[in-house]
Amino acid sequence: RLRDAETTRRRLHNTIQELRGNVRVFARVRPFLPSDDDGDDDGLPKNSFVQTAADGLSLTLLNSAEDDDDDGPFAKARPREPQHFAFDRVFGPATGQDEIFREVGEFVQSALDGYQVCLFSYGQTGSGKTHTMQGSGRGAMRGIIPRALEQVATYLEEQRERGWEYAMHVTYVEIYNETVRDLLIPANASPETLKKAANLDVRRDAKTGRSAADGATYVPVDPADTQQVDELMTLAAKHRCVAATDMNAVSSRSHAVFTLHLEGVHRQKNARLRGALNLCDLAGSERLARSGAVGLRAKEAAHINKSLSALSGVFSALATKSRHVPYRDSKLTFLLMPALAGNGKTLLMINLSPTPASARESLSTLNFGQKVRKVELGRAAQHLETL
Ligand code: ADP
Ligand code: MG
Repeated sequence: RLRDAETTRRRLHNTIQELRGNVRVFARVRPFLPSDDDGDDDGLPKNSFVQTAADGLSLTLLNSAEDDDDDGPFAKARPREPQHFAFDRVFGPATGQDEIFREVGEFVQSALDGYQVCLFSYGQTGSGKTHTMQGSGRGAMRGIIPRALEQVATYLEEQRERGWEYAMHVTYVEIYNETVRDLLIPANASPETLKKAANLDVRRDAKTGRSAADGATYVPVDPADTQQVDELMTLAAKHRCVAATDMNAVSSRSHAVFTLHLEGVHRQKNARLRGALNLCDLAGSERLARSGAVGLRAKEAAHINKSLSALSGVFSALATKSRHVPYRDSKLTFLLMPALAGNGKTLLMINLSPTPASARESLSTLNFGQKVRKVELGRAAQHLETL
């Protein structure tokens, strides 16, 4: 009976989501960290520059005019008046990882039901994107990726009892300077494999409409096997910093795309469904070029700007229902095209830092979130076919 209630709840969720459109934008403000500067040294508790409303649906970015001595070209971008923004959900600094996951878990479920799903974390470096997606450590601070796998493991059990058998695979790639790198190549791979893994093509399969990083290690995964999942994450983290002299710098300038590919088969119903869950930790959205970056930094800035502006371009085109949606403008948007196209489901989590020094970047993050909020995808479609 519990299970029937669960099925009904999921159907209801899918229906509600269809009615509201298939793009959700959530905002999360992280707490002050000991290392954060709050702009004064009065020793009083630090006040967040982004104040979340009790309704959990809106927030206010405070006025920074008082201490604004910046007359440079970006001065205008700074908030002069307190500005209000509404989102589908707003999470304040006290929100725990478990509560975040409760709100996004439905998207994970949709992937199991045969939808193409994409969750993004977007924001400036240090705003909490990786904390949201990957999390910190293995306990209560676990992020969306490990929790999603746990949830999938639970649902799999239930689906099995209903007659569905699932095959699950994981890919994990990083996009850095418009180059797609495999994060799951085995530690003992040959030099040729390593070389190939450092520059993958994104291909589109005309038959299934799916995009994939061609040649990315496709790891069969048992989501219930937490040890295997841990090992995959550790391997990915290792590869993520191999090429880097400054690991944090590279991870903040690259996009990490974790994908769980699901295929369910129901013999009696003669049915097959295919879903994908893309969990995407985006590069820092700050404008790196502003500080007059040169050399590699300038090149990185241009590439990040390229893919984030391509993402922005895709959302704009979708919002205005333009006939041409520029998915091919970046590796990122091309790879995620199936989830961003008409019948997918997208959740954008914008991450905000509470410090006054971040106000300008927060404003630009909030504006991006507002733009995405205007997007309505078509009716999401389950990918269901007969065997
Ligand atoms: P980003 O990936 O956007 O650069 P991180 O996720 O690495 O940012 O977060 C920066 C720092 O803030 C990390 O030390 C992280 O643990 C911490 N942090 C971020 N969000 C939270 C949060 N909600 N609660 C506690 N600490 C957080
Ligand atoms: Mg990060």
